[in-house]
Amino acid sequence: MSTHEYIYLKPQEFQKELQRCPVAYLPLGTLEWHGKHLPLGADGIQSHYLFEQIAQRVGGIICPMLFLGPDQRSIVDGREYYGMDNGNYDPDPMQWYPPQKFAGSAYWIEESGFQILLDAVVKQLARAGFRMIVAHGHGPSTHFFQDRAEFYRLHHGVKCISCWQLEGDLSFQSDHGAMNETSILMAIHRELVSMDRLEQNLDIWPDGIGGKDPRLFANVQVGNEMIAKTIEKMVEIINRELGQKEVSS
Ligand SMILES: [Zn+2]
Repeated sequence: MSTHEYIYLKPQEFQKELQRCPVAYLPLGTLEWHGKHLPLGADGIQSHYLFEQIAQRVGGIICPMLFLGPDQRSIVDGREYYGMDNGNYDPDPMQWYPPQKFAGSAYWIEESGFQILLDAVVKQLARAGFRMIVAHGHGPSTHFFQDRAEFYRLHHGVKCISCWQLEGDLSFQSDHGAMNETSILMAIHRELVSMDRLEQNLDIWPDGIGGKDPRLFANVQVGNEMIAKTIEKMVEIINRELGQKEVSS
């Protein structure tokens, strides 16, 4: 069993790992439609996997996944639509689909509520002794965390960073169920990706997907490249911040 999972650690092991590497990893997940071909927990699965890999290299402790997150909200004819429900992810008309309540999505929280939740999590992690918090996953949650980073540094003395460290298409989890996220999931959990559930007709844009068409561009190689390069960057940043040498787990 991993020595990096917060929920499995006893106090003595916790103290030991904290001393070795005072970094907390926070998967910013959702329970959210990611196209017909990906699991509802896609956001947290990807970030949790990345954190496991980074923790094996530099140490640190992985928190349980949050599954509530903010997102764009609209009300049409008295019905609420969140994030990808809205059907206008991209100005590209090729990616348009009608607004609809996607099956399985259960994650939305307004920004003020998310702020209370995130502020409490960061305060508690700082109190427990962490000096750095790495949070990543659902786009709007990750942006929100980044925007609060300076506040957390000033108020709690913790350095807060996300894992968006690469440029363009290779930036980890930078689309929605499209080329980027589909490739990552293909690389880490091939059995969770069902490409055959997507329409074969390329003239029809798949519902609830935003980014480069996964049917044309997603593959294991891209996923592996993204993972490897992001891990390298994160290991470098964490080691630099903590001024420590790389340790083996
Ligand atoms: Zn996602």
